[in-house]
Amino acid sequence: MVQLPLVRVSAERVIRQTVGLRPHRPSGFVLKSATLDHKTVIHNYGHGGSGMSLSWGTATMAADLAMAHGERRAAVLGSGVVGLTTARMLQRRGFAVTIYAERVPPDVTSNWSLAAWTPTSGLVEFAKRTPEWSAQLVQAAEIAYRQLQFMASPRYGISWIMNYAPTESAESARGENALLPRHLNSEQTLLQPGEHPFPTTYAIERPEMRIEPNIYLPALMDDVLNFGGHIVIRKFETTRDVMALSENLIVNCTGLGAKTLFGDDELMPLKGLLVLLPPQPEVHYSTSGGWNIPADQRGLFVHMMPRTDGIVLGGTSERGVATTDVSDKEKARIIANHITLFAAMKPPTGHPPMAPTPRR
Ligand SMILES: Cc1cc2nc3c(=O)[nH]c(=O)nc-3n(C[C@H](O)[C@H](O)[C@H](O)COP(=O)(O)OP(=O)(O)OC[C@H]3O[C@@H](n4cnc5c(N)ncnc54)[C@H](O)[C@@H]3O)c2cc1C
Repeated sequence: MVQLPLVRVSAERVIRQTVGLRPHRPSGFVLKSATLDHKTVIHNYGHGGSGMSLSWGTATMAADLAMAHGERRAAVLGSGVVGLTTARMLQRRGFAVTIYAERVPPDVTSNWSLAAWTPTSGLVEFAKRTPEWSAQLVQAAEIAYRQLQFMASPRYGISWIMNYAPTESAESARGENALLPRHLNSEQTLLQPGEHPFPTTYAIERPEMRIEPNIYLPALMDDVLNFGGHIVIRKFETTRDVMALSENLIVNCTGLGAKTLFGDDELMPLKGLLVLLPPQPEVHYSTSGGWNIPADQRGLFVHMMPRTDGIVLGGTSERGVATTDVSDKEKARIIANHITLFAAMKPPTGHPPMAPTPRR
């Protein structure tokens, strides 16, 4: 029987909440080279809910496109995870890089991410993807999965953790992802009744890659600077401003910012709220999904990830909502669903059951 310490969830224990706008495009991320006013602009944006997972992949592919350019001096627009990893891949190929960005971590969407290996989350609408794009995705995911594994260490805040998904369906343990080959997802085990502490019949157990943004992003910034890069704080209002840069090779990693800066009308936000509780060092597992979720909330995903900076509770994706205010209703839903789950779990041997906290 798997023994798992319980997470202490209540509205009173919340230490902070963050709201991020995932940069979603129904037809998937943009990765291509274009010519604009005699300059080369390589686009690398629109990673939806998958940017923390995929960025090393599209960064490598963007840097490969840059090799076709004669100059070895490049401007990278954006200092989120996509801009920072792109800057590093350009540096690894011998480019002198300056990052230009309105905001740097911790004030970027990348910092407000959960962030697990979720290479296809909020990424693409099935009907809108092309065979060419799908091939780019597989290539990006292959590169990124390998690269992140090389970086698993306290220095980068990347580690493996066991994830549990309580479920009533034995079928849901297949773990197939229609967009990616099997080996890009870790193996799953279906735990039988009596083998797990959840109130459901089964639980799916699988190793999950965890990235801690508060450690990872500053480490990437340090790497960019240590390899001779520069970071300039600057907001671009128009493409004309971008064209006035001295660099002739520009890589656009502005995420949602590309909507206005480069006129990509397909880009839209998927608003996501995270609620944080104080760290519980004894909690060494994550959960996906809840239990006894009210009928009107089924299908809405909830998840818990323990990190150095707190226990993260999430599970919202509001399509097309561009405001960054905290929705009291969504916050209450995330908290209530997790209270129900942990109150119904069997405590580890020798621990008293958790007193259920009333729903608010
Ligand atoms: C709640 C939540 C949970 C998530 N969970 C996961 C997860 O588990 N796994 C995962 O892989 N991903 C996850 N994501 C998605 C991930 O966070 C994004 O895909 C990723 O952060 C996008 O990175 P980015 O660098 O493109 O954008 P950003 O981090 O937004 O960076 C954009 C950069 O461009 C700059 N910029 C934009 N416009 C301009 C301009 N006009 N002039 C100058 N600079 C500009 C910004 O200042 C910033 O520096 C999650 C996101 C949210 C909100």
